[in-house]
Amino acid sequence: MNRKSFTDPFGRAVTYLRISLTDRCNLRCVYCMPKEGLQWQPPADQLTVDEIIQVVRVAAQGGVTRIRLTGGEPTIRQNIVGIVRHIAHLPGVKDVGMTTNGVLLKDLAQPLSDAGLKRINISIDTLDPVRFKKITRWGNLDEVWAGIEAAERVGMKPIKLNAVVVRGFNDRDVTDFAKLTMQYPWQVRFIEMMPFGEVAAFAKDGIVTEEQIRDRIEAEFAPLELQNEGKLDGEARIYKFAGALGTVGFISSVTQPFCASCNRARLTADGVLRLCLLRDKELDLLTPLRQGADEVDIKQIILDGIWHKPWGHGLSREVIPLNRVMSQIGG
Ligand code: SAM
Ligand code: SF4
Repeated sequence: MNRKSFTDPFGRAVTYLRISLTDRCNLRCVYCMPKEGLQWQPPADQLTVDEIIQVVRVAAQGGVTRIRLTGGEPTIRQNIVGIVRHIAHLPGVKDVGMTTNGVLLKDLAQPLSDAGLKRINISIDTLDPVRFKKITRWGNLDEVWAGIEAAERVGMKPIKLNAVVVRGFNDRDVTDFAKLTMQYPWQVRFIEMMPFGEVAAFAKDGIVTEEQIRDRIEAEFAPLELQNEGKLDGEARIYKFAGALGTVGFISSVTQPFCASCNRARLTADGVLRLCLLRDKELDLLTPLRQGADEVDIKQIILDGIWHKPWGHGLSREVIPLNRVMSQIGG
């Protein structure tokens, strides 16, 4: 069959590509990386900037319009500003976003914005410096807060703050975190912790569900009003406190999967395409790229991969992705 657009048999068009620029990170979040034993990918096995650009060009020809740069920590990739500039100016790319831990954003926000980065998601799991250090294993909350302020100062919009909620680490902080939306026009998003590889058992034991988070916030502060009749904004269900400037989102892949409307694919730093975050199935692009495949060949490989995009994840049946942790995939 001669397929031309990036659509799977369930009618889902893949229009959104998340690209991991590195598996390395300047933090070690407990839900993302195991405490020890994680092997870094050898630099020679990682996509070069030219190879990434080649894939994005092909993806844009197939209908991908949105790109999100992630990792590991994307801001530690060499020449991150140049990478953003290059991708933002490719034909067909309408939107470039980034998910970052914000540690280096204080100085990078302006050059990234000038290069074409408009949308930013910053991960910050708690507003308590001691608990922040515990959850990231050594992070400094002040650096992240300075990064958020810099993003706002240079006019990045929308600013979304991501918090993975982990029982015993930051579950008591969710109300203070949600209250930020009274004061700031941000989207504060609570993410249900997902199980991967060596941190799967930790994630399963420590998960706090959307329902539990919402109950806690409403009991401790005020009712949350559902927005957009429950229609998802990307992957998040949106709520708001009466009179708030910002919104509260929930990304509840574990208890309320949104697989039926999934429009995304992920490109890992070592060049595999992953068509479901929570399935081990992967498609190697690095080898064909290095063996001289041209853009027509790469497009065909991607088209075939999308045709076999998993219908959804299998967490409810205990099918857990085991071959990588989140930092090696790109969240
Ligand atoms: N380092 C950047 C950051 O932390 O934003 C980008 C990469 S990180 C892997 C992307 C997102 O994945 C972050 O918001 C992080 O909190 C989330 N994440 C990591 N491990 C997760 C897990 N086990 N379950 C749910 N979200 C996770
Ligand atoms: Fe690093 Fe982001 Fe993973 Fe935390 S969640 S260890 S900041 S890649």
